[in-house]
Amino acid sequence: MNSGIIFDLDDTLCDTRGQLVMVAHREASEAMRKAGLHFSVDEILDKRLFHWKENPRGDIDLLTSESLGGGRGEAEAGRKAYLERPVGALDPLPGAIPLLHALSSWKRALVTRGSPITQGEKIKLLGFGSFFDSIHIVPSHLSKKGTYQEVVEEWGLPLSRVVVVGDRPDKDIEPARRLGLRTIRFLNGEFREVAPSRKSERADAEVERLEEILPLLKEWLLTD
Ligand SMILES: [Mg+2]
Repeated sequence: MNSGIIFDLDDTLCDTRGQLVMVAHREASEAMRKAGLHFSVDEILDKRLFHWKENPRGDIDLLTSESLGGGRGEAEAGRKAYLERPVGALDPLPGAIPLLHALSSWKRALVTRGSPITQGEKIKLLGFGSFFDSIHIVPSHLSKKGTYQEVVEEWGLPLSRVVVVGDRPDKDIEPARRLGLRTIRFLNGEFREVAPSRKSERADAEVERLEEILPLLKEWLLTD
């Protein structure tokens, strides 16, 4: 069996929202206050969460800053604090390790977006290194598409034999669909409620639990 699977990291294999996101929003709010916003940390935090809920695809830092009378400087301070904070503790999501074990005969890659330092720290804390043939950290301003393509070419597998698993319709699913890869969206974390905004963001399948993935893969690939 020659098949490959590419996983996203945050909110796909680890509980980023539960363990990190709220703490990161608070620290970003502190940084924005220090940078010049004349509001309390709680007020800035409330505003960040409001904008996140209203406009999850928007620039939360800039929207928050501008709605509190600030500008780009305060927004950048918030963004930097949010993206570059040290990771305290992080656990794999239930089902992540058994799934990775069960796929040991598959080609496996991890493709995550974000700061190389923070993402590297998360991967180390999770002890994920040995589970993957390759690990790729894509800078936040770039799409995962180019990296997906490199991974698939490196494996030398047909597109129909490679599956991408991720939680974000825009950043994980769409670039994979554009390449013609199969996609599974894990409904979890910050993007759980975010609906696909166009057809290309709609995954081939959606799952609520990681345990649902293996039966799905068997149905798609192992039986044909
Ligand atoms: Mg994710």
